[in-house]
Amino acid sequence: MPHVAFIGLGRMGHGMAGRYLDSGFSVALWNRSRTKADDLIARGARWAQSPADAARDADAIVTMVADDDASRSVWLGKDGAAFAAKLDVLAIECSTVSFQHACQLANDLTERGLHYIDCPVTGLPEAAASGKLTLLVGADAADLERARPYLAPIGAAIRHFGPVGAGTVFKLINNLMGAVQIAGLAEGLRLAEAAGLELAMVQDALSTGAVASPQVVRHSKRMVARDFAGATFTAALRHKDARYAVELARSLQLNLAVGEATLDVYTQAKAHAPDDDEGRLIEVIGRSKRP
Ligand code: NAP
Repeated sequence: MPHVAFIGLGRMGHGMAGRYLDSGFSVALWNRSRTKADDLIARGARWAQSPADAARDADAIVTMVADDDASRSVWLGKDGAAFAAKLDVLAIECSTVSFQHACQLANDLTERGLHYIDCPVTGLPEAAASGKLTLLVGADAADLERARPYLAPIGAAIRHFGPVGAGTVFKLINNLMGAVQIAGLAEGLRLAEAAGLELAMVQDALSTGAVASPQVVRHSKRMVARDFAGATFTAALRHKDARYAVELARSLQLNLAVGEATLDVYTQAKAHAPDDDEGRLIEVIGRSKRP
């Protein structure tokens, strides 16, 4: 039976770990807070005492944590997965991390004899729990072939963008564009409110017209109703992705004016309600007066 170490049981990781159990893998789990593992342990997963303990004997190690710091910590921190992994093990990083971190981590893990697969994902937590994520891969082609059996339980589609780092570059572009769309929607709705338009009609017209991207369709209803229950993607995570994307652009000497402005707005949204739904961004729009 193939053996997977799965690290990080947040909104996304919990469902992904469950997919390995559904698919007949032997699974060792670690999460910073143990309670999130309880139901998966009841379904047959082994609770590990540390990322290193999870990684021992694994054929593939899959991580799904918040950001660069969390990723560094579970791979290379005290009792990190890298220190117990067997030689030639697949290291599959699914978290959305910065380009610089993905490349540095790949180097560090390769030096230790692991094979790094850069594998951020698109899809909401329900797609994670049903194995329907899109996997945005940056990897050596031979490593990707070896990794396919370990990617199949979690992904309905694999897009191989190129070498390590290329999946992360695409993911950051994708999520910066999502941030721009959501921020643009919030500004449009705030303007419509201020101008006294009937918001139900505005919402219907926006979500059936030429600007009706999936982000606009999804967030317009929630923003108009000011109903942000059941956050799937938080303001803190959206801010992090926009920041990593803008930092990548800066490192390439590109000035992304719209991206920079969107990052400013998400900096305010994160300060306002970091762990709530990203759509609460609308509550900070138009607050500061123009000089
Ligand atoms: P989440 O629910 O906030 O979970 C974050 C996970 O990271 C938890 O397991 C958390 O542990 C762990 N973590 C945070 N800081 C840590 C640290 N310093 N050391 C060790 N573990 C740490 O986030 P999520 O929505 O599952 O997102 C996970 C990743 O997927 C992020 O990179 C996100 O950008 C990306 N993503 C999310 C979505 C989405 O729709 N939510 C979609 C695509 C990609 P605790 O449980 O102990 O807090």
